[in-house]
Amino acid sequence: MAQFTLQEVLTVTGGTYAGESTKQVVFTNVSTDTRTIEEGSLFVALTGDTFDGHDFLSQAMSKGALGALVSKGRAEAGLICIEVESPLLAYQQLANYHRRRFDIPVVAVTGSSGKTTTKEMIGAVLSAKFNVLKTEKNFNNEIGLPKTLLQLTENHEACVVEMGMRGLGQIDELARIAEPTVGVITNVGNSHIELLGSRENIGKAKSELIRHIPPEGTAILNEDDDLVRPMASLTEGKTIFYGIKENVTVSGFQLRYKKDGIKFTCRCFDEVFDIFLPMIGDHNVYDALAAIAVGRALGVPSQKIAKALGNFKGIPMRQEIVSFGDMVVLNDAYNANPASMAESIKALGQLDGKRKIAMLGDMLELGAYSEANHREIGRLLVDEGYDQVYTFGEAAKYIAREAKASGIRVAKICDSHLDIVNAYWDERAKGDVILVKGSRGLRMERVVTELTDRE
Ligand code: ATP
Ligand code: MG
Repeated sequence: MAQFTLQEVLTVTGGTYAGESTKQVVFTNVSTDTRTIEEGSLFVALTGDTFDGHDFLSQAMSKGALGALVSKGRAEAGLICIEVESPLLAYQQLANYHRRRFDIPVVAVTGSSGKTTTKEMIGAVLSAKFNVLKTEKNFNNEIGLPKTLLQLTENHEACVVEMGMRGLGQIDELARIAEPTVGVITNVGNSHIELLGSRENIGKAKSELIRHIPPEGTAILNEDDDLVRPMASLTEGKTIFYGIKENVTVSGFQLRYKKDGIKFTCRCFDEVFDIFLPMIGDHNVYDALAAIAVGRALGVPSQKIAKALGNFKGIPMRQEIVSFGDMVVLNDAYNANPASMAESIKALGQLDGKRKIAMLGDMLELGAYSEANHREIGRLLVDEGYDQVYTFGEAAKYIAREAKASGIRVAKICDSHLDIVNAYWDERAKGDVILVKGSRGLRMERVVTELTDRE
């Protein structure tokens, strides 16, 4: 855990402490959450739309906190309160100071889709050689990133962080905190177009990471994405391109679809080897290629990379293959945007089933594009030969309407997760393969639970 003396905290944050204590004070941990506070912690009183960390100062103290970072004028008796303009900024400054204590590779991953998957694959590949710290779950924002960095210890030999964003300047801010030595951009899609206006702007926001890669660092870029490719000109470091084609530095080709995953041939610089990925969807091959490139950049031997990817477990609710009875569900309920929805709809065809069924919830945050995007998904289901469609949510009903109009006989708009399963149950047949997907807010995993409970 990250330790800081009181003097360090004051210097790093520019904060003030009104108390008289001159004795050497050491905080043994930094925490923003009173539930995880330990003896000797420095509590950071963050303020959000629905909470004010300052309300928890006495609770933090009773749990053993030694001090707190608070906003100006909010100090309370009993704790060593360091007053700052912004406790969040101070937290980030401490995280950056702590990160600088370690001369290790820090890999940052951003992009519209596949950040968490790629981060997990990079973590798996690097773990074949290093003791790796990686972002837990999806902690990829201005609070989650510092939280990860503050977990660095002397034992860590490499760090992998995910960077998310909702607007221009945010990746820049995260990169200043993490000072990555390797930057990966997965792709530039349409998620958050509501906030950024155009795909070009989204690309610009992602590219902020690449500008932070130092001369001795490496930018790892998806060559198949027209907005990622030109980012090579923005870095002072080396660039490694990857893609599903033959003429890139890290290339994946000859994809072979098996019943339990994808096999492909990889050429990485001058080496050629086979990779088996126990997942479906070509997009996962992209994520694996990015991980191979990072592994290679940091000196992991190719046979160790292949073994790590061959044992990759995937992430729950992200294209997780769940078998029950004679059916197979592709549980992809974690989240959805038009690009990832289209990828998953196509990917289901790689499973060896008799009929293809889609159980889909809304794709959120699409603004004025919402209806059109949902209708496009409806048409795609027809093009991809789906047999049945069930939808849940206000926007997803356009998927069902369009699918029905374009010729899918069973296309039902449902009122709940349970309603979907009830409607499907009368229509079910042996050998069905079922895609379950929607934005996080739709909690489509409940459909999977209803299905598997029933069997
Ligand atoms: P978030 O913005 O929610 O953090 P993320 O970028 O971390 O998302 P993942 O959680 O890895 O992305 O994957 C989200 C969805 O995108 C999954 O449904 C997955 O199937 C799909 N996906 C994964 N990799 C790619 C890729 N390279 N291109 C397109 N879609 C992908
Ligand atoms: Mg993520």
